[in-house]
Amino acid sequence: MARPYEIIIGLEVHVQLLTESKLFCGCSTRFGAPPNTQTCPICVGMPGVLPVMNRKAFQLALKTACALGCEIARFTKWDRKNYYYPDLPKNYQISQYDLPFSRGGYLDIRSPEAEGGKRRIGIIRVHLEEDAGKSMHDERAGQADSRIDLNRAGTPLLEIVTRPDIRSPAEAKLFLQELKLLLNYLEVSDCNMQEGSLRVDANINIRVFTDDGPVPTPIVEVKNMNSFRAVERALAYEAERQYQEFLETGHRLGDVPKQTRGWDEDAQITRPQRTKEESSDYRYFPEPDLVPVVVTDEEIEAIRQSLGELPAQIRERLEATYGITPYDSDVIVSQGRAFVNYFERLAGICGEGKLAANWVQQEVLRVLNERQIGIEAFPISAEALGELLCMIRDRKLDHRRGREVFARMLATGESASGAVAALGFVEVPDEEIEALCRQLVAENPKTVADVKAGKIKAVGGLVGQAKKINPHVDPAKVRDFCLRLISQM
Ligand code: ZN
Ligand code: MN
Repeated sequence: MARPYEIIIGLEVHVQLLTESKLFCGCSTRFGAPPNTQTCPICVGMPGVLPVMNRKAFQLALKTACALGCEIARFTKWDRKNYYYPDLPKNYQISQYDLPFSRGGYLDIRSPEAEGGKRRIGIIRVHLEEDAGKSMHDERAGQADSRIDLNRAGTPLLEIVTRPDIRSPAEAKLFLQELKLLLNYLEVSDCNMQEGSLRVDANINIRVFTDDGPVPTPIVEVKNMNSFRAVERALAYEAERQYQEFLETGHRLGDVPKQTRGWDEDAQITRPQRTKEESSDYRYFPEPDLVPVVVTDEEIEAIRQSLGELPAQIRERLEATYGITPYDSDVIVSQGRAFVNYFERLAGICGEGKLAANWVQQEVLRVLNERQIGIEAFPISAEALGELLCMIRDRKLDHRRGREVFARMLATGESASGAVAALGFVEVPDEEIEALCRQLVAENPKTVADVKAGKIKAVGGLVGQAKKINPHVDPAKVRDFCLRLISQM
């Protein structure tokens, strides 16, 4: 970790809100419709039309800002951000400039690099704006022209800008994962990067440790990253590139304007793009066609009440209530609210959090991944699996047999006891196992001597013999009994 520099990263995230209709007109926001079939005079920017704000979108935005601990403005307005681009027929985007609806806030991430394993990433502002359309360059083979699809124009977007508090490419990825999880829990966005409902730009520079103290390199904005992994890689590449550039120029670079670079996924490098406009180039001015939005204390309070328990709180509660590890709670909470509910019901039934955590992570999650389904579609109810875990807890079944019963329940829909009966598994009483162990110990003086000499593994031979004599015995019990008998000899 003895890097010769420190990395400074801030992110700008755009997420598409889960509304049925667009931000200022009634057009559908459904993904995947044929190009230009979800448009109207308002979202294609015909003259003489009047936009009207979608209240649902504003409420989802408020919900997100509240969950991020932002301060909500009681008065907020819209502004026109003017620029010319083929996918923006109005030549301006309705956005928020000097009076965004929220400021401040933070999101904590669990970062192994941070002190105490946790880093607080500050949020500068969250504002609402409309999306532009989409340019399609050569998407069909052999076609040299470019086309515009305006289905996306006017879709509500939340722009979330962080403070430059992120200290590594890995932390940038952790932040995005945590943000995505939060927005999923809030049911505010599906954050699907493939469908463009979450887009990330990153500002990054480094501070090189020199004899004269830390020297910062100019900030670079990195665009065109299409997955969380791409974000991590692009930022790692860019940090190292800036360091090499610093070594070559050797000096403080002075007032170099902010540069924009695009991530080239195929080449795994960043390349220079046009230099970034200053906000004055956008000639922002208040949107004359929309009234400002007034938010009341009651409205904010109602939103706060509706948030429900959020991922970070759930993790801590699961760890405290069920005694599971941060790793376990992380895996469980990452699967979503329904999965958390399933786990909690299961843990409640069998009374052992760790056992329930192991089973949902190993067996249940494996099946969900294999079948590409969510927990809602999982055929074994928490109650049915709970019955099985109770048998395992009471050592009526060993773990291996437990997994066989699970497989049968999955295949047949039988209850745990039904599957146990069908598989012909019978529980062997402890007295019977003990008698069997006494017999084996008496008949195998060499094994006994080996174990006494410290070769504990030798007891495995006795377990194997026991299983041959009675396949229903629990191998772990046989092992324990035999070791105890030998130690008493
Ligand atoms: Zn429209
Ligand atoms: Mn924006």
